[in-house]
Amino acid sequence: MEEHFNSIPSRYKKGKTKYIVVIGSVMSGVGKGTFTSAVATLLRFYNLNISMMKFDGYLNVDAGTLNPYRHGEVFVLDDGTETDLDLGTYERAIDRNLTSINSLTGGKIFNIIINKERKGGYLGRDIQFLPHVTGEIKRFIRQCAMKDKAKILIIEVGGTVGDIENSYFIEAMRELKNEEGDNNVMFINVAYVIQPSSLGEQKSKAAQLGIRRLMSLGIQPDIVVCRSENVVSKNIKEKISLVSNLPMNRIISLQNLSSIYSVPLYLESQGLDKTILNIMNINAKKQRGYYNKWKKFVSGFNANKTINVAITGKYTGVHDSYLSILKALEHVSALFKCKINIRWIETTNVKNSSDAEKALSGIDGIIVPGGFGSRGVEGKIKCIEYARKNNIPFLGLCFGFQLAVVEFARNVLGIKDANSTEISRTKNPVIDILPEQKSIKQKGATMRLGGYDILIKSNTLASMYYKKRIIRERFRHRYEVNPIYISRLSKAGLIFSGISKDDSRIMQILELPANKHRFFMATQFHPEFTSRPLKPHPLFVEFARSIINKYHYK
Ligand code: GLN
Repeated sequence: MEEHFNSIPSRYKKGKTKYIVVIGSVMSGVGKGTFTSAVATLLRFYNLNISMMKFDGYLNVDAGTLNPYRHGEVFVLDDGTETDLDLGTYERAIDRNLTSINSLTGGKIFNIIINKERKGGYLGRDIQFLPHVTGEIKRFIRQCAMKDKAKILIIEVGGTVGDIENSYFIEAMRELKNEEGDNNVMFINVAYVIQPSSLGEQKSKAAQLGIRRLMSLGIQPDIVVCRSENVVSKNIKEKISLVSNLPMNRIISLQNLSSIYSVPLYLESQGLDKTILNIMNINAKKQRGYYNKWKKFVSGFNANKTINVAITGKYTGVHDSYLSILKALEHVSALFKCKINIRWIETTNVKNSSDAEKALSGIDGIIVPGGFGSRGVEGKIKCIEYARKNNIPFLGLCFGFQLAVVEFARNVLGIKDANSTEISRTKNPVIDILPEQKSIKQKGATMRLGGYDILIKSNTLASMYYKKRIIRERFRHRYEVNPIYISRLSKAGLIFSGISKDDSRIMQILELPANKHRFFMATQFHPEFTSRPLKPHPLFVEFARSIINKYHYK
């Protein structure tokens, strides 16, 4: 029986795709994802077809069941995959829709292997970490490269060197380099240079140990990026150069910068683009178009005005749980050269209208984002009521859409006990579970997930903002507007301006007309998932515009 495991998919051509593998050391949470995305943006200046992939060591098959309070937002891809927020960061960086193949977790790879084993796929063999687990990983990666037709596939390894969770993945990366060849795979180590406040000076020992650890696994980094609070001194860089066998120009300092959007330009100033292209033997020229657009975008953060936006939410302690919303706001912030201050509203403290008034005083606009369960719901409804009655721009996202319907049913239609069946067993369930969801018991990947087409009604604000009749947006929900109530809600003045293309029963966008409100819109989908730096989402743009116009800014 052969020892060899074939990790090369059919029709795969070696050298077609080059791989950049980013591995962290010292500690996590130092912005490895930001750096990885910045590299992608930097390489996009060269008009190269870039794709990205993330490996996460956790044993969940996907991120769908992870608590956003612990783990940050669950991001939804167009194909319905529920992923880590990093995939959102990647989509925004490379401005392309990713799919399930761009995200690999420990759980997913073992799931693939166990399913294959049950079908007899490894017949006769005992399945081993080497060659089978590492082999399946390499196969997965190569399939990703082929599917995305990537010139460069950037792979970010979650966690840090030394974790048990990613050890077999790092081993697979070592093997990948050996198989693909020197110029086709390169390693970037993101290290951290600490600067203890008691000393005031930078210390490189932890970074050195991380590099040694990586090298002991058979991986020679090609570039070491020193994340740090301040610019890394020459003397520290020299020490790192010594232990890593690398010349000084391969040691990059990446101190905290004022905006993550300036990271690609900063890396360019350090010559990182040239260094990477050199190592990978890629002959490419910088293309002015995208490069100039990016620079203009970054200059948009020199704001000349400020607005205040409230976000109500359950996970207000962890802002990463709303990352895509914050990003969408940043995109419009650059567009309008307008700083957007965020006020987080913990709605469990909002019990009545006067609490809502206090919580929202001085606020220019309100976003009620997605959410689950009953905590803080009544407070959110109070905030929506306040926004509606006081002509304050309001954008409701998914749960925010459903609660806007509840608010309208209660306070305009006078159905006092109107509610969502997710919250209570009311006689007036204006929001009810989707019929196909009723029989589902399992939790993972069972919601109505991913991209669906939506028909936009003509002569509505939505049609004016989208300028299209059919749009595509991303969903993650179990409940919907109860069809029984639609005609009463509509007659009372609530306009459903978007409906599902395949199932005209499902309401997707609601709005109040311009003569009734400055901006009152909500969506059953998540527009925040598809906003991109140079293509801010139209609903976020119009939400911000409705606020900025009031101040008669240009
Ligand atoms: N809890 C609501 C539902 O399942 C809203 C979900 C969300 O906001 N993503 O329909």
